[in-house]
Parts: sequence; structure tokens; C-alpha cells
Amino acid sequence: MTYTVTLPGGKLWTPQFAEHIEEEKCIGCGRCFRVCGRDVLQLVGIDDEGERMAVSLGDDDDDGEYEKKVMTIANPENCVGCEACSKICPKKCYTHAPAEA
Ligand code: SF4
Ligand code: SF4
Repeated sequence: MTYTVTLPGGKLWTPQFAEHIEEEKCIGCGRCFRVCGRDVLQLVGIDDEGERMAVSLGDDDDDGEYEKKVMTIANPENCVGCEACSKICPKKCYTHAPAEA
């Protein structure tokens, strides 16, 4: 069965949890990070050998440590399925899915 929530007004809501970010499309703009209030996302720098490192938003990589930045779903257990991240994403990177109850 699909996991749903009964809102105080009596309506049923089906949370759509952030499941996947398509890294090939992501430009690391950070818009999704800014709107997520649940500490789900983490910006990651990827160097030319594919090594990954956590980076802060606004880090302009003065040392040239990485080739590109992408957003990652670091703490999926914190997601409440609000979809704010995908609504603001200019590149349509997100896939969401409901949970099984
Ligand atoms: S669905 Fe909501 S809680 Fe989940 S990652 Fe996106 S903005 Fe954060
Ligand atoms: S809003 Fe979209 S393009 Fe920007 S960092 Fe998030 S996933 Fe990547």
C-alpha cells in the first residue's frame, strides 16, 4: 500500500520522496539545497578522476580541486516528500516516488 498522510483538514496527501538526482543534468546551482528544510541534500565536488568531496554552497573552488559540482541525496531518511526541490530545479534532475506503507 502507498504511504499517505492525513492532513489536519482531513485531506489525504501522498508524499513524493526524493529518490534520484540525475547528475549528468545537474549544474550544481544549489537552488534545491536552499529550499529543502530537511537536511537531505549535500553538494559534492567531483574531480577529474571521479573522486568526490563534500563542498559548501558558495565555494567557488579557487584551488581548482574539482571539475564539477553536483547535488546528492545524502540523507534520504530526512526527506518528507514535499517536492520543493524538484519544483525549483531548472534542469529537471529529480525523480520522486511514494513510499510503501
Ligand atoms: S522532497 Fe522536500 S524534504 Fe525531500 S529533498 Fe526535496 S525539498 Fe527536501
Ligand atoms: S536545482 Fe537542480 S540543477 Fe540545481 S543543484 Fe539542484 S538538482 Fe542540480
